[in-house]
Amino acid sequence: MPENPRYDAIIIGAGIIGSNIGFELAKAGHKTLNIDKLPAAGYGSTANSCAIVRCHYSTWPGVAMAYEGFHYWKNWDDYLEVEDERGNAGFVQCGGVFVGNDERYSQKVLPLFDEIGIDYEIWDTGALKDHIPGIDTGDHSPPKRPEDDEFWEDPAQEINSAVYTPIAGYITDPQLATHNLQRAAEAKGAEFIFNAEVNDVRVEDGRVAGVELADGRTIDAPIVINVAGPHSFVINKMAGVADSMAIKTRALRHEVHHVPAPHGVDWERDGYLVGDDDMGTYFRPEVGNHILIGSQDPECDPQIWVDDPDVYDRNISDDQWRAQVLRLARRLPALGVPSDKKGVVDLYDVSDDWIPIYDKTDLAGFYLAIGTSGNQFKNCHIAAYCMVKLIEAVESGHDHDSDPVKVTMPYTGLELDMSAFSRNREVNKDSSFSVLG
Ligand SMILES: Cc1cc2nc3c(=O)[nH]c(=O)nc-3n(C[C@H](O)[C@H](O)[C@H](O)COP(=O)(O)OP(=O)(O)OC[C@H]3O[C@@H](n4cnc5c(N)ncnc54)[C@H](O)[C@@H]3O)c2cc1C
Repeated sequence: MPENPRYDAIIIGAGIIGSNIGFELAKAGHKTLNIDKLPAAGYGSTANSCAIVRCHYSTWPGVAMAYEGFHYWKNWDDYLEVEDERGNAGFVQCGGVFVGNDERYSQKVLPLFDEIGIDYEIWDTGALKDHIPGIDTGDHSPPKRPEDDEFWEDPAQEINSAVYTPIAGYITDPQLATHNLQRAAEAKGAEFIFNAEVNDVRVEDGRVAGVELADGRTIDAPIVINVAGPHSFVINKMAGVADSMAIKTRALRHEVHHVPAPHGVDWERDGYLVGDDDMGTYFRPEVGNHILIGSQDPECDPQIWVDDPDVYDRNISDDQWRAQVLRLARRLPALGVPSDKKGVVDLYDVSDDWIPIYDKTDLAGFYLAIGTSGNQFKNCHIAAYCMVKLIEAVESGHDHDSDPVKVTMPYTGLELDMSAFSRNREVNKDSSFSVLG
């Protein structure tokens, strides 16, 4: 890095979204610098992402954006334009099955699928059993914890239908996908620095002027973008914009568990992504013929909000391991319940309505791509594309607050009204208020 470097834009964070914003800005001809306090791209919350790609969201912008994002993953190598020396991350399109007797799919998501043109099938109980041999199709809703006696009761009825969508799957290695984006961005002239912590956002004459690093270095840029993941609220405080936003972000601790597939089942080859509303879980194939189990944040589970995203318990807890693995064992009764706990612990950057903030701020030149609420890995590219359109419009004098920027998405041609992701929106009551978005 030169002694007095100057960039068109500084991006705080080099996770999947920060790196993708670096790539999209560099593609558009801007000189960018991604700064990350960790040693490599994608080492923050991205590294522990379940990296699931699915379209079922509770709002039109949520579904539309995820549908657009799916096309980028399908065309990942072409999108990057360059080969990474480590190889490119893979997209496993295993298909998704969403089970549960709540009315979410029929009343909310399916009309959105119809409107946008997303393929799906309704499976009855028989089809569910044919596609997922050994599945228990009991209706166990609402989700409970194993400490609750009702958890063990036989269900009174069966799940009456499930929704299957072929365009669902997962990315095999989220950190590698981020590294792919770093290399793609660098090929367009972008720069990245690591082990470099931002400890101040500098302001001059009412406009952002750059950042100061923990080692005292200052770097100038007329645009700074907060893409700090679970540290987003810390960076907003540095920039002095936190109090002027209607929607806030907070860090929420989350556990993801890994168990071997039931004996004789090749879940890695034949398994689906399954969203199980009845149990409050989701699960998908994981390498080594394992099954990855995540939580849908059911009401019966405690939420652990974290005040300092650098200090939280990174060990898998006995209680949550037991709850999640036993929930899966009720759905797949042949599952073994291992005594050694395996999985990951990380933080979501949660907004008040679990919908991200992709926006400007009241501080000129300071932008936000935050509040990704455990559900925006899949949208990194389209979020980055939209951020570039928004930043270019605002920097050209457009008043995005009074006349929201609209972006035509490249693959689907659908138009996204960026006010859906405003920092000053009202809490969106259509949201699931969970990781489902
Ligand atoms: C357990 C878990 C499971 C998830 N599963 C899914 C899923 O299945 N599908 C899906 O779509 N999404 C999922 N998500 C969400 C998704 O992973 C995130 O939305 C996405 O990774 C966020 O990327 P990011 O670049 O914004 O943030 P991050 O990857 O968190 O990157 C932020 C970076 O900012 C850096 N940083 C912070 N403060 C500073 C500072 N002061 N100076 C310099 N650098 C700083 C950090 O070091 C970090 O590397 C999941 C998330 C988690 C935690």
